[in-house]
Amino acid sequence: MTETETSARAVAQLADEVHWVLKWPDNPTWRDRLRRWAFPEAYFFDRRAAPPKSWVDRPAGAFERTGWRIRAAYVGCDLAFEVEYVICELCGTGWVESPYTSHDYERCGLATAGLRSLCRAYLGVEWHTAGGHFREAKQFWDSVGANVPGAYTRQEMCGHVEA
Ligand SMILES: [Zn+2]
Repeated sequence: MTETETSARAVAQLADEVHWVLKWPDNPTWRDRLRRWAFPEAYFFDRRAAPPKSWVDRPAGAFERTGWRIRAAYVGCDLAFEVEYVICELCGTGWVESPYTSHDYERCGLATAGLRSLCRAYLGVEWHTAGGHFREAKQFWDSVGANVPGAYTRQEMCGHVEA
């Protein structure tokens, strides 16, 4: 096993320890904006200050879907894995899209660990995907969906979240 794989497996084991949860609210008030202006470090995500291996949970950025969040694993400064998700409280559904594992960190269990940590963080939620399932993707979702409520089966996205 390479050093990279070993590190990635160690990160997978930390999936429930999210070090950075940047709580930039969905509807920021002027106070939030003021606080960010006064204390930018509270909201600015600085990879260089991060521990060598970590999980991050952050709101989607300006060019991403509103209301969605990103859960990501870093090995050093490398993005090893990330997935987009949003919880619809009205439907009790968690939507996950676009899981991405960096080539160097494939087959280290990061995707499974990350998705499992979301299940544990949002109990009672059924998990689905809305994206087109390509053949490879279907295999992926089938394998990570075992014992997961909803099993990441494909569904028409509800109208409460940005598609
Ligand atoms: Zn909904």
